[in-house]
Amino acid sequence: MNVSGSWQRAARGAMLLGADGALSTTIFTEMSALAAATGSINLGQGFPDEDGPDEVLDSARQAISDGINQYPPGRGMPVLREAIAAHQERFYGLRYDPDREVLVTAGATEALAATILALTQSGDEVLTFEPFYDSYGAIAALGGATHTTVALRWPDFQPDADELRAAVTDRTRLILINNPHNPTGAQFDAETLALIVELAQQHGALIVTDEVYEHLAFDRPHIPVATLPGAAERTITISSGGKTFSATGWKIGWITAAAELIDAILAVKQFLTFVNGAPFQPAIAVGLGLPDAFFATAAATLRDKRDLLMAGLREAGFAVARPSAGYFVIADAAPLGYADAAEFCRLLPGLIGVVGIPVSAFVLEEHRSEYSSLVRFAYCKRATVLDDAVDRLSRLRSP
Ligand code: PMP
Ligand code: GLN
Repeated sequence: MNVSGSWQRAARGAMLLGADGALSTTIFTEMSALAAATGSINLGQGFPDEDGPDEVLDSARQAISDGINQYPPGRGMPVLREAIAAHQERFYGLRYDPDREVLVTAGATEALAATILALTQSGDEVLTFEPFYDSYGAIAALGGATHTTVALRWPDFQPDADELRAAVTDRTRLILINNPHNPTGAQFDAETLALIVELAQQHGALIVTDEVYEHLAFDRPHIPVATLPGAAERTITISSGGKTFSATGWKIGWITAAAELIDAILAVKQFLTFVNGAPFQPAIAVGLGLPDAFFATAAATLRDKRDLLMAGLREAGFAVARPSAGYFVIADAAPLGYADAAEFCRLLPGLIGVVGIPVSAFVLEEHRSEYSSLVRFAYCKRATVLDDAVDRLSRLRSP
């Protein structure tokens, strides 16, 4: 069957097809397959190798036994919407009506897709911070939006205020923030967030903020952009239970925003997945209500893992940027003599049995050379696994 034509054109625009017309898988799929095929330690795709809290796991098992196995309501189960609203108030003092201003989605991924598709028209600009999480570019392109970027540069990965001012125009429909940031582990400070709000107000743009790493901040507290003066009414906040509760396979995400924005996003979301994850929804509600100690311990445990992997990478000869949050650390392979991280990442499994991801996978093709020697490594793994990885990385100096 010939499937060329419009699908191919759309897919190529969204970087789903390579130059040869073949389907290109995401970098995460490619690198996890390489790790499995070579028996390497997978510090590529960001997923934990340990389960989350028992209360949350038990709740999902119980829900299945209790027959919570059919379609949940379109906006999400009330127990979860109420838990999301309570969480936003408890941690950030943000008030949302669980019936009108909260929407449960199939992970943050669907939340992002439904938001971008609902709120942009062909030709609108979606501004992201580069490197950017890969789905942002793909969805913007699938919706016919124009993807523009502001650079985040080694080693602190903060945007330059003048470049940001220049990048926001009257064509900018969405300013899409990822805070804390994947792949760099950077957090935007209050001044940067205030500038984003000011620019959004000035140019009539909406702010979409992907905060899936909100509870994994090590050095300073997370600041949701919606808490800034004037921000809440124009901000769509997206998060998910995957990272916070080490349940990336459950795909329970959510959005908090003004009721009319939620309605527009729901109109799209109902034709993407309709609904998802019935027994996982009450379980994530249990997670969101866990005591403060759970959230503090999760961040502290991950901070120790960050320190372990950072020290090992430095010892192995990489230059390393310090992430203040999230799952990932960026290392520069140039001091080891590898100028091309994409090639380095394909060699690494064979050399020492470790998988990482080239940062060039998170940038527009025309900007790849600016990030060419940088590699992203995930530290959301057991300490023994990280010890083993560090040991293997140390062999790079004297292979
Ligand atoms: N946004 C960012 C920044 C991510 O790193 C990820 C992947 N974990 C997602 C969104 C997707 O989240 P989910 O698995 O909840 O769809
Ligand atoms: N968010 C994960 C990462 O950045 C991967 C998610 C995926 O494979 N799509 O590694």
